Amino acid sequence: MVTTQLAGRDIVDERVLDAMGAVPRHRFVPESERSAAYEDHPLPIGLGQTISQPYIVAIMSQLAEVEPPCKVLEVGTGSGYQAAVLAEMGCEVWSIEIVEELAARAAVTLDRLGYGRIHTRAGDGYRGWPDQAPFDAVLITAAPPRIPEPLLSQLRVGGRLVAPVGDWHQELVVITRTPTGFERRNAFPVRFVPMTGEVRER
Ligand code: SAH
Repeated sequence: MVTTQLAGRDIVDERVLDAMGAVPRHRFVPESERSAAYEDHPLPIGLGQTISQPYIVAIMSQLAEVEPPCKVLEVGTGSGYQAAVLAEMGCEVWSIEIVEELAARAAVTLDRLGYGRIHTRAGDGYRGWPDQAPFDAVLITAAPPRIPEPLLSQLRVGGRLVAPVGDWHQELVVITRTPTGFERRNAFPVRFVPMTGEVRER
């Protein structure tokens, strides 16, 4: 997986490659999907949700440009896999999942694997985790129609937010907080499950 799907494409950050090699991806997917855990595509994790393709987890981790000691906020814990990759990269991670059953399962998986530097909670990630802000990076792993303002405000200056944005057409977006505002660039088109909750109101 690391050699062909990641290093063989444009993943060059050694910390990302090492972390992806270290995390046992098969422990984050249901029993029925284990044999396919390291294949080059997303997989169902139940309750209508998916664990992203390995390449997507790697590129989001690389685009975050974090160096330890780093504090990262993730919205959309899902299986807990992306959080584990960030923890292996040397970051402390705060991760929020709106589907309670998935949040509970991810907490058990991460605990069994000994990831003590990942803090999870069940709830809507729209308002982030203000007590722990500012973060060096914010990763949103479900697609909102637009970036929730509270998540931007929890970035430190120089920090990056990486997220798929859009409904039918989604783009992976990287936003950097500068001393005077935000700089935004689009990386490439992607397909994620929708971000639900407060971001859909109004
Ligand atoms: N990062 C995950 C994959 C996430 S799939 C992994 O590594 O496995 C996207 C997840 O975002 C889903 O589990 C979905 O329930 C969750 N989600 C959607 N809207 C959300 C919201 N408003 N707050 C928190 N989680 C949300």
